[in-house]
Amino acid sequence: MAVVTGGTRGIGAAIADALREDGWKVITIGRSGGDVQADVSDPESVTAAIEKIHAEHGKVFVLVNNAGITRDGLALRMSDSDWGDVVDTNLSGAFMFTRGVMGDMLRNRWGRIVNVSSVVATRTQAGQSNYIASKAGLLGLTGALAKEIGKRGVTVNAVAPGFIETDMTAELDAGQLVEFIPAGRVGRPEEVAAAVRFLCSHDAGYINGATLSVDGGMGA
Ligand code: NAP
Repeated sequence: MAVVTGGTRGIGAAIADALREDGWKVITIGRSGGDVQADVSDPESVTAAIEKIHAEHGKVFVLVNNAGITRDGLALRMSDSDWGDVVDTNLSGAFMFTRGVMGDMLRNRWGRIVNVSSVVATRTQAGQSNYIASKAGLLGLTGALAKEIGKRGVTVNAVAPGFIETDMTAELDAGQLVEFIPAGRVGRPEEVAAAVRFLCSHDAGYINGATLSVDGGMGA
């Protein structure tokens, strides 16, 4: 079975659809809904969700850590909660979910973990220190885990989307941002999902610790 955190909307919903097309039973996790409701930033909520998944749906062989939020602002005026909420959701949530289900994959001698990072993890910009730190942290987590469990048939990779049309980017000025995108357009959730689907496939078995950019060339 496959679990997609933040699988209720946007990129996560497209990833859930793509994995279903590949024959996976998919469990979506959302803070306000999904097949199993959970707040990935809250350790107790994550523990309860994993217990529920194991009890009601079985073992997890594919995990996509996609749940994420932004709370943009300049560091000088950033509140502790704007820092903490973003890091707890985007980075700690991914760690806690991974820790909770990786035993299933290790015992199975096959598994796939994909972390949804961002182009800004490496191509940084002002006004998003919390978000960028969390997304860069996800790349570090990806590499470290790939080395810890690579021998057991489990791969851990990341995707780094650019500007994708979802609720998260609804208030941004696409016209202005397109100037920085070599492809000359914003991306679609399905285009990120296609990359995740590949990394979760049997064909991607020798790709481990990698980051696949899906950004129309923005980070090039
Ligand atoms: P979105 O449309 O805002 O959807 C976010 C998803 O995450 C929702 O399903 C939401 O569930 C879930 N979520 C948020 N906080 C959660 C929490 N504490 N616990 C459980 N679920 C939570 O965002 P998106 O654009 O699809 O982004 C998906 C991922 O891609 C994020 O990690 C984002 O950082 C990354 N990304 C997006 C872009 C972009 O341009 N859109 C670019 C690069 C990277 P609820 O609806 O229940 O809150």
